[in-house]
Amino acid sequence: MRHRDLDYKDLLRRTRVPPRKKVSLKDDYDPCYVPAELSKEEASQLLREGVIHLSEYQDKLYAQDSCSLLIIFQAMDAAGKDGTIKHVMSGINPQGCSVHAFKGPSTEELDHDYLWRAHVRLPERGKIGIFNRSYYEEALVVRVHPEFLAAQRLPKTGKDIWQRRFREINDFERTLTDNGTRVLKFYLNVSKEEQKRRFLERIEEPEKNWKFSVRDVEERAYWKQYRQAYEDVFSNTSTEWAPWYIIPSDNKWFTRVAVASIVYHTLREMNPTYPKLSPAALAGLGEAKKKLESE
Ligand code: ATP
Ligand code: MG
Repeated sequence: MRHRDLDYKDLLRRTRVPPRKKVSLKDDYDPCYVPAELSKEEASQLLREGVIHLSEYQDKLYAQDSCSLLIIFQAMDAAGKDGTIKHVMSGINPQGCSVHAFKGPSTEELDHDYLWRAHVRLPERGKIGIFNRSYYEEALVVRVHPEFLAAQRLPKTGKDIWQRRFREINDFERTLTDNGTRVLKFYLNVSKEEQKRRFLERIEEPEKNWKFSVRDVEERAYWKQYRQAYEDVFSNTSTEWAPWYIIPSDNKWFTRVAVASIVYHTLREMNPTYPKLSPAALAGLGEAKKKLESE
């Protein structure tokens, strides 16, 4: 993505959570932010270009077949996870990509530790995997609603359970990183007012009715508890190896271009390359060419 259009250093400074930072969403992260110098039209042009570059990198990642990229999306309802995934990944070869949406756990999943169901959904080498919600729900919805924790039938659930989960998650992501999976985590930061506006739109516009569930309004009543749980997650699990990015999400057009830019720069840093053939394999290509030409 062109630097003169989106100041990437500034974007990182505003969105990436430094390790061990005590996060206050209210004080440090404005859901309405958009760069003064960027118009909506420029952003959509940038997004189109960014998506093309993304797909070039994905092609190399797939060919190299060694590393993978896991992209996690977390957010309150109606923050725009689905739309962001759709737009940012629009140019990507479906063969090199997987998306999984995590809902409440099944009986089989409850019979295992909470990371089990995530582990089996991780992207294979060469692929980009997207988690629409993730194991972070284990320190969010499960923390806000203690009955979910009770359903897990853990032998030990003291007061330190959340610190323990943060440690386990950090260790898990460290293991993934060391073994070739880069982990990117996005929180789409929507304001309570904007969520209300989007809920009302979903209720009032018939084509959007399907997106609305009365449960969403029930969950909204726990806004404060969710914010506290999220802040604790960010303060404890933004690491050198798997940072959190808190993305301003009251303006969807900015959310999309910001996420695309971070994914693009991460892939660029991973620097995947097409595999180089060995001299023997190259000789084999020469032989095959001769055979075809003499047909
Ligand atoms: P949409 O934007 O379509 O509403 P969504 O991600 O909110 O997308 P839903 O089907 O509405 O999808 O909700 C999934 C629900 O599953 C969320 O409320 C989430 O908190 C819940 N969930 C996810 N993981 C767990 C978990 N481990 N334990 C309990 N509930 C979970
Ligand atoms: Mg929902």
